[in-house]
Amino acid sequence: MPDFNPASPPLAVVIGGGPAGLMAAEALAQAGLAVEVFDAMPSVGRKFLLAGVGGMNITHSEPYPAFVARYAERQGEIGTLLGEFDADALRQWIHGLGIETFVGTSGRVFPIDMKAAPLLRAWLKRLRDSGVVIHTRHRWLGWNAEGALRIAYPQGERLVNAAVLVLALGGGSWARLGSDGSWQALLAERAVDISPLQPSNCGFEVAGWSALLKDKFAGAPLKNIALSVPGSAPRKGEFILTAQGVEGSLVYAWSAPVREAINRDGRGVLLLDLLPDKPVDKIAQALARPRGSRSMAKHLHSQLGIDGVKAALLRELTDPATFASPEALAQAIKALPITLVRARPLDEAISSAGGVRFEGLDAGLMLKGMPGVFCAGEMLDWEAPTGGYLLTACFASGQHAGRAAAQWLKSQG
Ligand SMILES: Cc1cc2nc3c(=O)[nH]c(=O)nc-3n(C[C@H](O)[C@H](O)[C@H](O)COP(=O)(O)OP(=O)(O)OC[C@H]3O[C@@H](n4cnc5c(N)ncnc54)[C@H](O)[C@@H]3O)c2cc1C
Repeated sequence: MPDFNPASPPLAVVIGGGPAGLMAAEALAQAGLAVEVFDAMPSVGRKFLLAGVGGMNITHSEPYPAFVARYAERQGEIGTLLGEFDADALRQWIHGLGIETFVGTSGRVFPIDMKAAPLLRAWLKRLRDSGVVIHTRHRWLGWNAEGALRIAYPQGERLVNAAVLVLALGGGSWARLGSDGSWQALLAERAVDISPLQPSNCGFEVAGWSALLKDKFAGAPLKNIALSVPGSAPRKGEFILTAQGVEGSLVYAWSAPVREAINRDGRGVLLLDLLPDKPVDKIAQALARPRGSRSMAKHLHSQLGIDGVKAALLRELTDPATFASPEALAQAIKALPITLVRARPLDEAISSAGGVRFEGLDAGLMLKGMPGVFCAGEMLDWEAPTGGYLLTACFASGQHAGRAAAQWLKSQG
């Protein structure tokens, strides 16, 4: 016997047509429900498409223990979701849309053409073919006194009665793509436990660069370097010096501990290793070689290849006494402290930390205080670095919430 009467299945509503919401819609349709998706924007999946612009890194191929550890404090909760839909399952799912994937040299997984658009196109067709109705330019405004969903659309406002609801409203960055975090106020009114949205995978600001450094080197990349936070192992990579501070993939990787240090102490520190492949004693030896009448800057360049933005930053962040001493300068080259005073605004971040706390959700991602309302995707309180971990958790939580929502509805008789 089917779970629901196929002639008049109950209506499942999904608000938010990003990867999490569309995944929930797919799971709900597979369970035999009538599904309608509402999204505020003129088209769905806008952030997903943007994520594909520089190469759609959809998941990662590293072994599961390393993969799940990327979710840090929330690895328990996200691990449960990945138990049903992990990186391999996600790849199989993509292959099911007729799109092959490949593993890049860094272990990151990409669709074969690196793009998001063909995948989204194929997926939307499959969803529509399975009966999912997608309404764009439909903004959810909350509930009316009778519990109906209030939806604003170009012709006015309509009320929708949902038998079950999945919210997948995204985080709070890149508001122009749809996820503006305005849901926080709507859920706070209903006493939902929310950790405020904060920037994650973001740039940071220093108290102020000198005019010299800013004018000459803002926008300059620092390559073949390593960064760490005090007490942690350095990671190699690259970042960019900006007019206000620093940004780029390696800075993003450290964004959670730096942000937390700023929240706690008013400042966070990144330690820059300008020569990650050279031990400190070898650097000191090179610097101690006679330099004759050459300046220290020329000496740094000829002995160690440090010049340009690297030399300028070293000069900016050390005092003259350190610059004059081979031992002290060698120490500074290995661990140059960059003091950061604030994160760049949430809207600029790749993703958001914070969101609906797992403590307020049951195992199916249903709000404990609002039976029949499920949450999925970046609006949940977890964060992860870039590398495909963000999308993987969005897909996994969307599928989990969709399946659990269908189960819950069935259990209501
Ligand atoms: C520049 C950039 C690059 C990225 N690159 C990658 C990457 O390579 N790999 C990776 O894993 N992740 C990447 N991400 C992150 C990834 O795109 C997001 O984590 C993911 O899209 C979040 O999915 P979601 O479904 O939870 O929310 P979203 O994709 O943000 O979708 C939420 C949807 O809800 C809708 N909505 C919001 N409020 C309402 C409302 N009140 N009524 C109706 N609709 C509403 C929005 O219009 C939106 O369509 C990137 C992000 C950015 C900004």
